[in-house]
Amino acid sequence: MGRVFLLEKEEPAFTCRTCNAQIALSAHLLDNFYNFFEFHQVYNVMVGEDVVPYGNDLYYGYEVSCVNCCAVIGWRRIQDEQGTLYFRFEHGRIAPPPSPPQNPPDVQP
Ligand SMILES: [Zn+2]
Repeated sequence: MGRVFLLEKEEPAFTCRTCNAQIALSAHLLDNFYNFFEFHQVYNVMVGEDVVPYGNDLYYGYEVSCVNCCAVIGWRRIQDEQGTLYFRFEHGRIAPPPSPPQNPPDVQP
């Protein structure tokens, strides 16, 4: 296998907790529910071929792992009737981008 080519984007992105590779843009976050972040567009990942249960066996999907360190970070849902694809990443396996400061720092005169 050759060297892994990683995409690096300038925008705020969620990253692999293990190796910090970028996984998905914050702008593409669809939902944050139960203990998953949900996206329909991701990058720097590999999708497995076998359907496996996840989320305490509540759901079924394909394993999604980080292309850089191979850690399993989440699952791709099986396509629904509309053909919509979702990727779900478990909290703790990917990290959200550092949040921008809510207030500008106090300026001392
Ligand atoms: Zn990784």
